[in-house]
Amino acid sequence: MNINFVSHLMLPTNGGWNRELVDYVCWPPTARAILAIPLPLQPGEDGFFWVATTDGRYSSKTGYQFICNERLANQASSSLGPSMSASLWNKLWRADAVSTCRETAWRACLDILPVRTELHRRGVAPDPSCPWCLDAPETVEHTLLYCPRLRPMWFASPLGLRFDVESSMQDFLAGFLVDVDFVAAGVLFATFYSVWQARKDFLFRSSSSTLEQILVRASRLRPSRVLAQPPTIPRAPLASSWRKPAICIFNLNFDAALTTSHEAGFGLIARDKEGEILAAATSILEPVLSPIMAEALCFRWALGLASELGFRRVCMETDCLGLFNYWRQREGASSHLETVVRDFRFMLSNFDVFDFSFVRKIGNAVADALAKLAFRLGSLVWIEESS
Ligand SMILES: [Zn+2]
Repeated sequence: MNINFVSHLMLPTNGGWNRELVDYVCWPPTARAILAIPLPLQPGEDGFFWVATTDGRYSSKTGYQFICNERLANQASSSLGPSMSASLWNKLWRADAVSTCRETAWRACLDILPVRTELHRRGVAPDPSCPWCLDAPETVEHTLLYCPRLRPMWFASPLGLRFDVESSMQDFLAGFLVDVDFVAAGVLFATFYSVWQARKDFLFRSSSSTLEQILVRASRLRPSRVLAQPPTIPRAPLASSWRKPAICIFNLNFDAALTTSHEAGFGLIARDKEGEILAAATSILEPVLSPIMAEALCFRWALGLASELGFRRVCMETDCLGLFNYWRQREGASSHLETVVRDFRFMLSNFDVFDFSFVRKIGNAVADALAKLAFRLGSLVWIEESS
């Protein structure tokens, strides 16, 4: 039948699908899937798009993630993260610890702390081994939990932890957080933070903290200090002393820039409620049909990234009034935007709290600058290292 290109399945007149032909040549489920793809009103160049990334580019990493996500979806569990479920992320962000401690735990969980194995992999550090024990590669798990030097400290800590087996950070946290309260989670994260600080002091200031000093520092990092008397059993319910932790809501500003050649640059900046920057990102995409489509695709990209980074409560801000109004009207389907808007309505299930608001250009200046930088930098994500 000489069908060699997708365009052979389209009507030559208006660019819509030739339904009769699609139904004739394709197996019904395939035909349904094809006909469900909305076509752009204006013709564009053909291209290959990988469905699992927002920029359409395939990599073995995203292929792997795609399979994992499919498997997770089949298990009807959360749409988020490799092994951290939504409720565990939730617990992570609500732990009774000051925000820098929660952020250290968050980085550990995403495996983005600058440990030596990672720096070595990137060619920054000559030696991947643990600076403390010099006996094992310094991974996130090793440096925060399993380093032989730290084991007595963990046992002596209010949590009384002993590690019989070594697992990945995500598996450890998934197991630990599942049946402890916010207080115990806070103790763990404050200790993580204190250990990480001690490691930095050791490496960069040549000052060596004792295990006791690490624990004392951790004990000062809990906002409610409800554990002034260390509990004998860490997993004991602490109902009388529990108090509602502050809710973490992250502000995410995004913006898109479009060149005359229809290349779109995206920028995103994520801050916590104190205004501390947690992450920033740029990306480019082409071709994009219109400025508002660029904003919509940028929104989808920002949502995906926020979910990948484990932000469960977000307030997104845009300076694109068209997109904001389109979002608010809660219906559509007539616009070419709907293809994308439908995507992000679906993605909202990744968030516990979601808010979307309009800001003036001046309030979105950083995201705007990042979007313009994207043309030079390409696709990058920066994660702020804890101070
Ligand atoms: Zn070590």
